[in-house]
Amino acid sequence: MRTKGSHGDPRTARRNRLGSPAEALLRLGFDTRLATFTRAGSYDDAVDEFDVVIVGAGFAGMYMLHRVRGLGMTARLFETAGGVGGTWYWNRYPGARCDVESMQYSYQFSDELQHDWDWTERYATQPEILAYANHVADRFDLWRDMQFDTRVEGASWDDATARWVVSTDPGGECSARFLIMATGCLSCANTPDFPGRDSFRGATYHTGRWPHEGVDFTGLRVGVIGTGSSAIQSIPIIATQAAQLTVFQRTASYSVPAANRLLTADEVREVKEDYAGFRAFNSLMPTAIGSKLPIPEDSALALPTEERDRVFEQRWVEGGLPFLGAFIDLLFSPEANDTAAEFVRGKIREIVDDPRVAELLSPKTVIGCKRLCVDTGYFATFNRPNVELVDVSETPITEITPNGLRVAEREFELDAIVYATGFDAMTGALLTIDVRGRDGRSLRDAWAAGPRTYLGLGTVGFPNFFTISGPGSPSVLTNMIVSIEQHVEWIADCIEYLSENGFDRIEATQDAQDAWVDHVNAIADFTLFPSCNSWYLGANVPGKPRVFMPLLGFPPYVEKCNEVAAKGYEGFALAGSSAS
Ligand code: FAD
Ligand code: NAP
Repeated sequence: MRTKGSHGDPRTARRNRLGSPAEALLRLGFDTRLATFTRAGSYDDAVDEFDVVIVGAGFAGMYMLHRVRGLGMTARLFETAGGVGGTWYWNRYPGARCDVESMQYSYQFSDELQHDWDWTERYATQPEILAYANHVADRFDLWRDMQFDTRVEGASWDDATARWVVSTDPGGECSARFLIMATGCLSCANTPDFPGRDSFRGATYHTGRWPHEGVDFTGLRVGVIGTGSSAIQSIPIIATQAAQLTVFQRTASYSVPAANRLLTADEVREVKEDYAGFRAFNSLMPTAIGSKLPIPEDSALALPTEERDRVFEQRWVEGGLPFLGAFIDLLFSPEANDTAAEFVRGKIREIVDDPRVAELLSPKTVIGCKRLCVDTGYFATFNRPNVELVDVSETPITEITPNGLRVAEREFELDAIVYATGFDAMTGALLTIDVRGRDGRSLRDAWAAGPRTYLGLGTVGFPNFFTISGPGSPSVLTNMIVSIEQHVEWIADCIEYLSENGFDRIEATQDAQDAWVDHVNAIADFTLFPSCNSWYLGANVPGKPRVFMPLLGFPPYVEKCNEVAAKGYEGFALAGSSAS
């Protein structure tokens, strides 16, 4: 890596190897295995040419690095954070945990790994998932090719050499044949630009950038802005600490109970006895999220109300996202959807004591149109005397003040503000990087009217450039680790194919990309997803083009990717000086 500034500083190099100071202490003090890696694991600062550069050290980047190294290629992974884990490094807010069951929300590429690792809860907590990510980095010796505290700022394609030139902050430059973006669908925090935002004298937090040392809200007046998944997980816990908690809600969210619990030794053993079968069954589901409940064949409208509600009740008690799989047509028919929506609204009315608050908390939109939330005691939290719900749908937050926050004429005095305001999803992290493809064309320009990809993997004008769980792939509508593994394996196979066949470049063709974008839109239009303002559509970020970005249906997508590969990467143009 050629360095331009502070990179030569041995303290910076050491920090890169050890992660943030807090993590370094933890590792060196409490985990001798990790201390060993830090001695052996430093990357070579002098190297500045690689086969592959990977951006991001979440589950996507880590596995990509492992696969690329398995091909005998050289690689460097850059990560803004001080350690691995991506989502689970940044989102340390109280109550953060997965909403796909742990036994399923984990890698399956290594049978030994999945057998050795023991999840303790049905839905793992953020610390446990982060520990798992560190374990994976350790186990597969990933550290020595990862460079932390380093943000990729720009990348430009040099057509003459068929290489990407990548620039980073702190300043440095390197080149690679392939550039793989593992930058995450939900990694670019969205903080609304309220007037006076910086004037607040109290403490400000974003759920997606939570302090590592944690936050103690005991005795404080806390305001939480937002009522999406992050808010719904954190509010019940913040409420138990704060003197007063005020929740500012723009849109009410549907949420179902997590029914979280400790995993029993028997159920872990049962899964591990046939982990492959468990994974195979789940990969046939449209979302691959994993559920033991049967895949339905009935329409919600085919049953009398009482019988239908029995099915919903069973799913409600079982807990989690499979609630939306109760009937075959919940995401396609407005009438069917309304039966599920009304069931949840009924539950909210049952749980929340004050009918006015219950009404405010009851969503009016299509259920599942925004990501369904999964909670532990969310609605009941509004029965607490120290919790107030403020509707900011009609009258938005007017301004942040030095003492708190104002909505129209009412000022709320606060000691801390928590922005649970989500992410510039799917494209945000990619477009903060100045990516320049063929003829200097920028990705920002190419996607100005919304992202355009072929299979969510490649983009016209950007050779040898791959996006893991990119827009146009199932990604956020699935168990993401399953989708990530499928993308990583497809990309690794593709790179191997190119190398073995003497190709030095690959790029999506215009026809294939246009047809794919039409296909993604057609599937979306067949569903109820476009009917509300969600981050799937970019509607949460002012000025972002309204385009439905993910693709529904994991199994047919995988089939299509396999078919494309089997046909010599149909829809991609392959070229190379030594190709036969
Ligand atoms: P990330 O984990 O987001 O990692 C991307 C990394 O890239 C980040 O560390 C980021 O710092 C880095 N990066 C980005 N840009 C740059 C740059 N320019 N230079 C250097 N580094 C960069 N999905 C599920 O399937 N099930 C769940 O239960 C679930 N729960 C979630 C809970 C929360 C709170 C959130 C926010 C998301 C959740 N998700 C869940 C989605 C989750 O993002 C994925 O499951 C998965 O962790 C994504 O992994 P990734 O590697 O693709 O991206
Ligand atoms: P989110 O779902 O986008 O929620 C953001 C919240 O902030 C929404 O309620 C939104 O209101 C509100 N908001 C945004 N801008 C606002 C403004 N200017 N004024 C008032 N309110 C505003 O973000 P998130 O909760 O961080 O979740 C994002 C995704 O991450 C989830 O959908 C999920 O995929 C994943 N996640 C999963 C879990 C889990 O359970 N495992 C936990 C957290 C996150 P509007 O709805 O009106 O826009």
